[in-house]
Amino acid sequence: MGTKEYDLIVLGTGDAGQIVALAAAKEKWKVAIIEKKAVGGTCALWGCVPKKVLISGEELANFSQRMAAAGLSSKTTPDWPELMAFKQRLTGSYSENSRSRLQKHGIDIYQGAASFVGEAAIRVGEVILQGSHIHIATGACPRQLKISGEEFMTTSSEFLYLAELPKRLVFIGGGYISFEFAHLAARYGRKVTIIHRSEEVLKKFDPDLVALLVNASEKLGITVAINQPLMRIEKKGDELLVIVQAGSVEKVYGADMVVHGAGRVPDIADLNLEAAGIEASQDGVIVNEYLQSISNPRVYAAGDAAAGGVPLTPVAMVEGKVAAGNLIHGSKYQRADYRVVPSVVFTLPKLASVGLQETEASKQGLQYDVSFRETADWLHNLRINEPFAGFKIILDRSTGRILGAHLLDSHADDLINLFALAMQHNLTAADIKQVLYAYPTASSSIQYMVG
Ligand SMILES: Cc1cc2nc3c(=O)[nH]c(=O)nc-3n(C[C@H](O)[C@H](O)[C@H](O)COP(=O)(O)OP(=O)(O)OC[C@H]3O[C@@H](n4cnc5c(N)ncnc54)[C@H](O)[C@@H]3O)c2cc1C
Repeated sequence: MGTKEYDLIVLGTGDAGQIVALAAAKEKWKVAIIEKKAVGGTCALWGCVPKKVLISGEELANFSQRMAAAGLSSKTTPDWPELMAFKQRLTGSYSENSRSRLQKHGIDIYQGAASFVGEAAIRVGEVILQGSHIHIATGACPRQLKISGEEFMTTSSEFLYLAELPKRLVFIGGGYISFEFAHLAARYGRKVTIIHRSEEVLKKFDPDLVALLVNASEKLGITVAINQPLMRIEKKGDELLVIVQAGSVEKVYGADMVVHGAGRVPDIADLNLEAAGIEASQDGVIVNEYLQSISNPRVYAAGDAAAGGVPLTPVAMVEGKVAAGNLIHGSKYQRADYRVVPSVVFTLPKLASVGLQETEASKQGLQYDVSFRETADWLHNLRINEPFAGFKIILDRSTGRILGAHLLDSHADDLINLFALAMQHNLTAADIKQVLYAYPTASSSIQYMVG
């Protein structure tokens, strides 16, 4: 067993890992990066990117179905294998490209699961690596549900690579991954059920708009079953039986596939953090505002593996940049700015949110005005025959600044970024209304949303 020495060892090749490895390598540091799966990380290989490409097929189906309902032409749904092949063409080379980029910068790549064997020592396979600094960016993995039959569940990563889409799917958990995949499968004509343990699905989003989205989902044929905690999963021949508690009785859903959408947790359980004296909680490695471990100063952490920021790609990227800056220029060089973090549920229509919820503004005792309106009758929705759309905007009463923006809209993914831009730069409702927008566009509608 050999030992190798590095200035920096990075655990994980996702965005929060690669950014740090590349930044250090550009400073002529000797860098190693370790990956237990394919090089590239969740967003590029098992998350945002393949998902968004698959949604192209759904958009095609959805648009033609909506326009057919408005009297225009017939319905089109691309074949599932055709759609998968399209996704593969667009994303198939990503892992190899990432590997080449890292190698081009002189970074040593180790394949295998890393774990600590000392304060600054990592084992990968038979090799021990010693690092002046270590950066943990191991991301997240599906939460263990600790129920009987858990092994019969399909993960979100597996779902994104399905050669065939089964006829009946049950999604466990009413979060964004379940809703996105459920919409995709339902638009392919599958029988889809989302099972959620409590009253509120999509908890981080505005409840009035979530109610509209649930209506849209049910109209699409999706069953959204709330207050039904999962008890166990049984396999009977080819069929999976999902057994939930529904009030005082057990209820059974038959399925061909059961998909885990019940949350993700930091992937740190197997890192043996104790060997390095690294403190962690269920939210991840505990770091200070500079993303440095509070208990082992030579260690940094970023992205889904670190406690603090929300588990989204832009946050992982910002944290990667911040950690890199602090590693290279001194431990207090910069902090992450989490003031404005937009997020989107890529259902059709899309649900998006940035800033405070109405309940948060109220809890904080702020003086604010709220406007909530359905917008199916606005031109950009009318012309595509989209019946489910709306917004809720929360404005600071004295300054007119945006405290929160919440949208259900076909264009919500782009519109929400305009609100994020406005919030980041403290623009007021009056500033937004002053702009001369190109027309007719969805973005020109934001001037009417702010009053
Ligand atoms: C289905 C899905 C859809 C998503 N959609 C969106 C979206 O639309 N928008 C958005 O902003 N975010 C989305 N996310 C979240 C986003 O993908 C993550 O927040 C982001 O990828 C986190 O980046 P990271 O670098 O922290 O971790 P990852 O990209 O997860 O990288 C961690 C890497 O570490 C590796 N690793 C783990 N343990 C070890 C070990 N012991 N040794 C070696 N390697 C290890 C993993 O294999 C992985 O490659 C989605 C996630 C999923 C699962």
